[in-house]
Amino acid sequence: MPFSTLSDIQSRLDAGQTTAVAVAKTYLDRIAAFNGDLNAFVDIDPAHVLEQAEASDAYRAKHGARALEGLPIAVKDIFCTQDGPTRCCSNILKDFHAPYDAHVITRLKEAGAVLVGKTNMDEFAMGSSTETSAFGPCRNPWDLERIPGGSSGGSASAVAAALAPAALGTDTGGSIRQPASVCGITGLKPTYGRVSRRGIIAFASSLDQAGPMARTVKDAAMIAAAISGHDSMDSTSVPDAPAVDWLGACDKTDMKGLRIGKPKEYFVDGMDAGVRAAIDAALAECAALGAEIVDISLPHTDAAVAAYYVIAPSEASANLSRYDAVRFGHRCENPEDLLDMYTRSRDEGFGAEVKRRILTGTFALSSGYYDAYYIKAQQVRTLIRQDFIDAFEQVDVIATPTSPITAFKLGEKTDDPLTMYLSDIFTIAINLAGLPGMSQPCGFVEGLPVGLQWIAPAWREDLILNAASAYEAATDWVKTPINFGGEA
Ligand code: GLN
Repeated sequence: MPFSTLSDIQSRLDAGQTTAVAVAKTYLDRIAAFNGDLNAFVDIDPAHVLEQAEASDAYRAKHGARALEGLPIAVKDIFCTQDGPTRCCSNILKDFHAPYDAHVITRLKEAGAVLVGKTNMDEFAMGSSTETSAFGPCRNPWDLERIPGGSSGGSASAVAAALAPAALGTDTGGSIRQPASVCGITGLKPTYGRVSRRGIIAFASSLDQAGPMARTVKDAAMIAAAISGHDSMDSTSVPDAPAVDWLGACDKTDMKGLRIGKPKEYFVDGMDAGVRAAIDAALAECAALGAEIVDISLPHTDAAVAAYYVIAPSEASANLSRYDAVRFGHRCENPEDLLDMYTRSRDEGFGAEVKRRILTGTFALSSGYYDAYYIKAQQVRTLIRQDFIDAFEQVDVIATPTSPITAFKLGEKTDDPLTMYLSDIFTIAINLAGLPGMSQPCGFVEGLPVGLQWIAPAWREDLILNAASAYEAATDWVKTPINFGGEA
């Protein structure tokens, strides 16, 4: 059972073959047994998990099942939850308890989900390996010497190892898709504005978006259906976003008539030969399913990482200025005066990567540099957005590798921020353009998972789900057993 999909668990609950309490116990036992190896969860309250499961069983008996009734879902430590701590894996928030639930958390609760705990992440979601967490690195269950990706590495590791059947992550520059890719699971970043950001600790507000991480396309769609929709308390949540038939879009088994763009800029020298072979084979499979593969160009791709590393740190430097030790967060001992309190509290509370981003962002926004860096990066962003608009004149969806490499070893890139930043070379442009993107498993290189990325026009998550479910139905990658944690 632990490696079951969310929809299988749902069928068994609906058929009365199991209960939410029994399901919750299965995962709590696995967390107790295996979290020590993975460090995927940074907070777990078993008694509270069982209480929610009991309440769900009682609700089902009385009123029938809601959309996610009794289904366990793990959430990244970036989501504010009234229950338990919300720390964004930072020492600056080590004693923080959120006064309210994030909108997506409220949505999950209203759908009857059982929240299983908080998952590990890079501090403030800044990273690609979950090594900058204040609670220690998380590990990849496919190989414990390797990173699970980041920043939603804890969610990816937990799902891959079946410590939870599904999880929520956030994606600012790739943080759902890249960990999904290197952990062999499915992760969806919705269109910017599809999901409310209220109660999600802000990193870069024009880029951040929450989404599901799950075993299959349909499982991801089930969660996306529950969390998406307008929230009048988030000004970036779009009120009249075109609706998607989330579950209906997962019924496709062929790709007849689908035009898939293959951007030449995403198939460059330097990418792992095994990854390239896996993606080529995946595209051949798509062609066999009836798709037309069209060579396209996204000419400003090579400027995406540079633009992102001006825009994201600039927004972060503004967002993180709220951690001033006045109303919440870490406060240093015996401050001499206000300035000493600000500087020492921030110095003690933030880790090195977060400081690097704050410094870079403050520099890029400072007078004299603003035009040269921030404005220039915004102009590049417009060009990147236009590249996609032009490409979608020719094709329905775009397929690329999610990451140029498979999971790397812990510690391998921690001394070299630039190579770490390049981990997101294939995911960042999608955030800059505000588009939906998904990573799904499409093979292995030396036992390590490879992810196929799908990109669609804004609000067309249905096209991604169509293509990804047809590919999933035609292949066995999501069923590949993992050599971790017993029964597969
Ligand atoms: N790895 C990228 C960064 O470090 C993206 C992170 C994210 O999407 N949260 O900023």
